[in-house]
This record gives sequence, C-alpha cells and structure tokens, in this order.
Amino acid sequence: MSGEFTDIKSLTYDEVMAFVTSIGEKPFRGKQLYEWMHVHRVASYQEMTNLSKAFRQQLEDTTTYTSLTKVDCQISKEDGTRKYLFALADGNVVESVLMRYKHGNSVCVSSQVGCRMGCRFCASTLDGLLRNLTASEILDQIYAIERDTKERVSNVVVMGTGEPMDNYDNIVRFVKLLSDEHGANISQRNITVSTCGIVPRMRQLADEKLQITLALSLHACNQQKRLELMPVANKYDIHEVVDACRYYFEQTGRRITFEYSLVGGVNDSSQDAEELTALLQGINCHVNLIPVNPIKERDYVQSNRAVVEAFKNKLEKNGINVTIRREMGRDIDGACGQLRRKHISET
Ligand code: SAH
Repeated sequence: MSGEFTDIKSLTYDEVMAFVTSIGEKPFRGKQLYEWMHVHRVASYQEMTNLSKAFRQQLEDTTTYTSLTKVDCQISKEDGTRKYLFALADGNVVESVLMRYKHGNSVCVSSQVGCRMGCRFCASTLDGLLRNLTASEILDQIYAIERDTKERVSNVVVMGTGEPMDNYDNIVRFVKLLSDEHGANISQRNITVSTCGIVPRMRQLADEKLQITLALSLHACNQQKRLELMPVANKYDIHEVVDACRYYFEQTGRRITFEYSLVGGVNDSSQDAEELTALLQGINCHVNLIPVNPIKERDYVQSNRAVVEAFKNKLEKNGINVTIRREMGRDIDGACGQLRRKHISET
C-alpha cells in the first residue's frame, strides 16, 4: 500500500461502498467498481468503461490500483504446470504457480516478499523478509493467472513464498475477498493456508471460524528433530503446535492437513513413522508426504522411492490418512523460491 492512498482492491465490499459514498458517489457506483475489480478483474481504471471519466480520475488521484507485471513464465512439458514470476509496483518480484488437476485448476500464491522463518530446507527464506504482500497483491496473483490463461481457478493454496501467519491481517482479508459472493466467489473449502506453526495466530485463525483448510508444516515427529529443520520450533514446542491444530478442528470442523517433507536420513525412518503416529493420535487429519526438493544452498537429499513408500505404508497401517504429494512441474522446478532467486541474482 503506498502512503496515504487507499489500496482499493484490498477493501471489502462494504468498505468499497463506504469509500465511494464518502467521495460523493452513489452506492451503485461502488457495486460497479467492485465488480470491475473482483468479477471482471481488469488491470486498470481505464478499462472500467461504464464509470464516468471524472469518477475514474478521482480514483486515480486518491487510490492505488495494484496490478502485476508478468516477468517470466515457465511451462512444464510434462503436466502443464506454470510457474510465474510477477513484478509488484515497487519492483519486487514474487512467484506463483498454476497446477492443472482433473478436478480443476489450483493456484499456489505467495504471501510475503521473502520470509523470515528460516526453515533449513527452504529457498524462499535465504535472503530474509523484505515485506508483506497486501491482500490485493495476493489476489492479483490469481487474477493475473486467470487473465493469462483465460481459464478459471477453482482452488487456491497459500503455500508460496512467505509465512501467512506472519502477515495475518492481510491473509484473513484476502480469504474474505476471495470467497466473497459479490466478487471472486471461491468457496472457503477450496482455500488452504499453510503455516510453519505460529501458535497464537493459528488459534486466532480458528476463532475466525472460516471454512478454509489449515495445513501445518510439521516435517518432524518430535521436538528435537523439528528444531533441526525449523527455527520456529524454538518459539513453539511441537506439542503446542499440534494442540493448536486440534483446537482449529474443534472450532471449525475442518480436517487438518499435516505436511511432512521427507528428507533422506533425517526424518524418514520407520521409527520416525511410529513416533509420528503417536504424535497425531486422535486428530482428524490427513498427512501429505512431500519428497524434499533439494536446494543447492543446503545438502539435504530426497529419500529414495522405496523409503517414501515404506513410510507411507507404515502410517497407513497405523490408521493414518496419508498421500504422497504428486510432484508437479518437475522439469521446470527448482524448489519454491528458486525462480525468484535466479531472477534476483541475474539482475
Ligand atoms: N510458510 C508456510 C507456507 C510456505 S512453504 C509454511 O511453512 O507452511 C510451503 C510448504 O513447502 C511448506 O510445507 C514448506 O515447509 C515446504 N517446503 C519449502 N521448501 C521445501 C523444499 N525444498 N522441499 C520440500 N518442501 C519444501
């Protein structure tokens, strides 16, 4: 958001109405404006052809209309996955990914420019946090991809660069806008927010009583192992984090997803699977196993296929719901955050 200007696309429907009437326009102008932004998703005020020139000028003068510029787009020949690099108005760049599934298109959005969580295996955090994204800038990633592909997006996961619970207010605003029936109207049940485990914010999110899925990046079966991979564990013990997940389920009735990146020789033994089973006892959940995506800055390696299968079978035998995440766009990949890093080092 720039200075004193109103970030118009981050305003809720009611806030747009209030804003429009505050500058002396009729409420139905607010409805039109909101539809241009969130239904037709135009890239600028110029395209809002049924608004008067004077009103558009007034909007230009008093508000910010965010919009992204496509800098790069890599398309997988294997499965059509598209990895986008977008420039924000201030020149920073963010990554977003479109994945095509049988059940529809899913977009993975970034929530921050960089990240300060420091997870050992993750490329997005290597240069730290530059700034939070506004709700509008997170929405823009979806809108820009829909414009680029001329295809609808049905599912959204907040699993790109950044820690959404470290940008809490903007994420909640984003979810409300994305699921608003006046606008993009994507069901909350088709939205997933992934966190490394910031306990107070997870509990606060539970109290919002949204119908979104909460995914927890667990990646370890006990506190000691989690500490080795995720510095955030210094602040919140693994049991506190798992309790916050239970609380989320109690408040929302939404089944928790646990993400578990398998790192060769680090967290993939049969003993790890047993401990994980005990840790998740009695939680209505689903475990998503992700073969770690090696980054060149660290020497972590993927577990081999047989180890991944054995880990999955053990959990299944123990009555845990589990899937191995299909690796989309392997040929264009590089882990999360690597396209952005490549771009930054080249420019
Ligand atoms: N900060 C949030 C969301 C962004 S990361 C979170 O931690 O959940 C999205 C997911 O990708 C997380 O589960 C994260 O731990 C995982 N991840 C990051 N780098 C990875 C890598 N190199 N290989 C496998 N998974 C990775």
